[in-house]
Amino acid sequence: MANTGPAAQSTAHAKMPAGWENGAMTTPETSASHSPSTPALALLLDVDGPVASPVTRAVQPEIIADLLALAEAGIPVIFNTGRSAAFIREQVMEPMIAAGMPSSILIHAICEKGAVWFSYTSTGPGAVHVDHDLAIPSAFGDDIRRLVAEDYASHMFFDETKLAMVSVEQHISVDNSDYRAEQQLFDADAMDLMGRHGLGVVRLDHHAPDSDDRIDYRVDPTIISTDIESVRLGKDLGASRAVELLAAQGVTPQAWRTVGDSRTDYAMADWLHHNDHPVKHIDVRPADGVPVKPYEVLTAADLGLGDDIIHDDAGAAFLRSWRRALLG
Ligand SMILES: [Mg+2]
Repeated sequence: MANTGPAAQSTAHAKMPAGWENGAMTTPETSASHSPSTPALALLLDVDGPVASPVTRAVQPEIIADLLALAEAGIPVIFNTGRSAAFIREQVMEPMIAAGMPSSILIHAICEKGAVWFSYTSTGPGAVHVDHDLAIPSAFGDDIRRLVAEDYASHMFFDETKLAMVSVEQHISVDNSDYRAEQQLFDADAMDLMGRHGLGVVRLDHHAPDSDDRIDYRVDPTIISTDIESVRLGKDLGASRAVELLAAQGVTPQAWRTVGDSRTDYAMADWLHHNDHPVKHIDVRPADGVPVKPYEVLTAADLGLGDDIIHDDAGAAFLRSWRRALLG
């Protein structure tokens, strides 16, 4: 699970659209000729929460339509997610193509918190890139798969689509509070397993260094999953890749909007601000409290909406507001 393998690589290459040579980050001619080099905005979007419903994990048709309209107008749309490339293909790329994605559009997807990335057009996905230095050792992943099958299969499943991270996710059919209780037990077992594999690990405020006193991995519990990953992964890494992918196209946005539903999503805006890219962050689930930041943070209240408009409903409202502001 922790590597792409020749089969996965060849599949990715076989689906490469015209103009994508050897998986390089080349841009199809159609896109380059239509993309402004200094668009007014670029959108860097967490997926679970602001784009995909955390309940159904699907994407509203209105969100797909607004993403397409903004992208067609030359606004870079970039996903920055902990999800796998396979998830983004199924839940985001395929609905966009099915909705009539124009051939001029190139969408970038940074997956697995920056360890994996690919781009797609109306003809499908380009090569899937994996930073193998950031992948979890496959022997450890195999043990987690076994642990889930033996002790936790009633509440959660092992995500077989991850190429660098190890993720174990709540079954949709299970009540979230039941899952959260079981997740505590799973996380403790996973930490024990990492110790037996000699992997230094941190979970929240719990530190368990390896024998060299190093911490290379973290266990990150989210509300619907536990992610086990290199400490070098994060939404900040995804943001840096986003800037690189646009730079490779000759695109320098005048300003960025980052959108997320978790505290960790602020790392996108933190990184952009720190590197002198004008940015505002949109928090679609501000119930945890909005931290003080050196850049502007917006919530649905800034659109005149109530506290009950959260998750993808808030994400949809912001996409619509940008579409109206930029396209009339
Ligand atoms: Mg999220």
